[in-house]
Amino acid sequence: MASTDAATPAAQRPGPATLRPEVLDFTPYVAGLSIEEITQKYGLSQVIKMASNENPLGVSPLVQRAIRDHAALAFRYPRSGNPRLLAALASRLGVAPSRLVVGNGSDEIIDLLIRVRATPGTHNVLTFKPCFSMYTLQSRLCGVELRQVPLRPDYSFPYDDFVAAADENTAIAFITTPDNPSGFTPPVADIEALARALPQDCLLVVDEAYMDFALPQEAYSLASRLDDFPNVVIVRTFSKMYGLAGMRLGYGIMPEWLADYMWRVRPPFSVNILAEEAGIAALADTDFLRATLETVAAGRELLGRELAALGCEVAPSQANFLLFTLPQGARLNARAVFERLLQRGVIIRPLASYNLPDSLRVTVGNAEENMIFLKAMREVLRHG
Ligand SMILES: *Cc1c(COP(=O)(O)O)cnc(C)c1O
Repeated sequence: MASTDAATPAAQRPGPATLRPEVLDFTPYVAGLSIEEITQKYGLSQVIKMASNENPLGVSPLVQRAIRDHAALAFRYPRSGNPRLLAALASRLGVAPSRLVVGNGSDEIIDLLIRVRATPGTHNVLTFKPCFSMYTLQSRLCGVELRQVPLRPDYSFPYDDFVAAADENTAIAFITTPDNPSGFTPPVADIEALARALPQDCLLVVDEAYMDFALPQEAYSLASRLDDFPNVVIVRTFSKMYGLAGMRLGYGIMPEWLADYMWRVRPPFSVNILAEEAGIAALADTDFLRATLETVAAGRELLGRELAALGCEVAPSQANFLLFTLPQGARLNARAVFERLLQRGVIIRPLASYNLPDSLRVTVGNAEENMIFLKAMREVLRHG
């Protein structure tokens, strides 16, 4: 004891060794690179970011005005329960407000679901592999066993294996549709069958971060029929189609009893006043939403076609991004292509953190960004 004390400077006590093992083992979320980082690192004048599936049209002008108009209210605490936002969302979705929980990004909803439902040391959480890292990171942090079932090589869902991996202690099964990073989007009948096949007490959490881009939505989403599926929770976000990633706003649609307990434990002010006003305005700006959908549909088609013409293999996608692999016999690997694109001021997403080191993911940009990306890709594949 005495020798340890002597070796540890007083300023470091108590040190990291006193922290929970789940915290010491934690691997932080890997975010896409920022425009500032790359502008500085390569001394570029123009950098475009097609890495984090943000809205290619930026922030709606109506939303910007709502944020400015409410800036003077920032000294106040938000109203408990965010009732105005709930009412706006409920009427847009056609569900009762009592089924909704809003959070600081859908990340908060995902984290809360795990903490509310899964007991450390008893329960397990089931996901596919690869999957959005929030499910695995927050489960591990909670000390909950994680079960991961590999996707099929074409990124479709192996439902039988998934259900077989569940047992009476499976608290939550997370799936993402449209899936990230592949864009795979199963027909809604498959989700229905999965919801029925899982153990009764297991919540099926369907992360629909990109469902706004999958049309017609009834073909892919259970959102309008949740009454028939008491074990299904849907999680959505304002970060993608609504163009509000920086405001941090997401929501869950769930059975009323669960929403009630989620609200009890949610930090009271995690959705701030400006995020709430931005969300209400974003729901109302139908022109902006229509323009976003048109831009994404046209850009996805263009990028898919042109990447295929370069010899890349492109996964079919209903989302605002495409996963692709490089042509057979390409001189550069995915990591090198990613870096050559960075040097040319184009940020896309390498997928090593998803365990897909040979694949890349590009977010659909606006018309100009798509052209810049494709030109850079042609140069990189031709000249290295
Ligand atoms: C982007 C994304 C989200 C959204 O997260 P926010 O916290 O709402 O920004 C959730 N799930 C998946 C799979 C995503 O890709």
